Amino acid sequence: MRIAPLVGVLALQGDVREHRAMLERAGARTLAVRRPEELDDLDGIVMPGGESTTISKLARVFGLFDPLSVRLRDGLPAFGTCAGMIMLADRIEGGVRGQETFGGLDVVVRRNAFGRQVDSFEADLDVHLDGSRDRPFHAMFIRAPWVEKVGAEVAVVATVATGSAVGRIVAVRQGTLLATSFHPEITGDDRFHSLFVDLVRTPGRHQR
Ligand code: GLN
Repeated sequence: MRIAPLVGVLALQGDVREHRAMLERAGARTLAVRRPEELDDLDGIVMPGGESTTISKLARVFGLFDPLSVRLRDGLPAFGTCAGMIMLADRIEGGVRGQETFGGLDVVVRRNAFGRQVDSFEADLDVHLDGSRDRPFHAMFIRAPWVEKVGAEVAVVATVATGSAVGRIVAVRQGTLLATSFHPEITGDDRFHSLFVDLVRTPGRHQR
């Protein structure tokens, strides 16, 4: 039997435990990543939410920023949620001056897009996990970004189904990079984590 893939969870901020639990349910082995050498054996990495400005500063402080950027450029599959989505975006709107991201995803992501007054909310999403329409996903958003523009290679995976933000893009995939504006680790529905573990298992089928 093939050994389960090893998925790291960037452990600088955010719901590290919840992400690990969901990834393990989806069949992966997991590792909390804080040191550069912990990147070596990974088959994929999850970047939890938090505050993207803080995450990029901490990644510098922990010596992770450059080695992780190199691994991502070399094709390490990655799944960013909320601030993690911002960290994977090539371009951001509403960032602080000089805010750094790892990049890789050909999108423009707007930080705090739903407005600062709406700190957190829940919404149903229309989802297309592997191209065809899936059942709705109930999502939790916390000071969330949205995706404002997508490049030619980027697939829209989920949009807001109802309310004032209807149609806004909140999940995307480009090859083996996956990103969600919301927090899929806290609502019990593990379809996004399962999709990611599948991308990690068979990256060749989902080339960037
Ligand atoms: N607003 C945060 C940022 O810009 C993201 C919020 C989150 O990850 N829950 O980084």
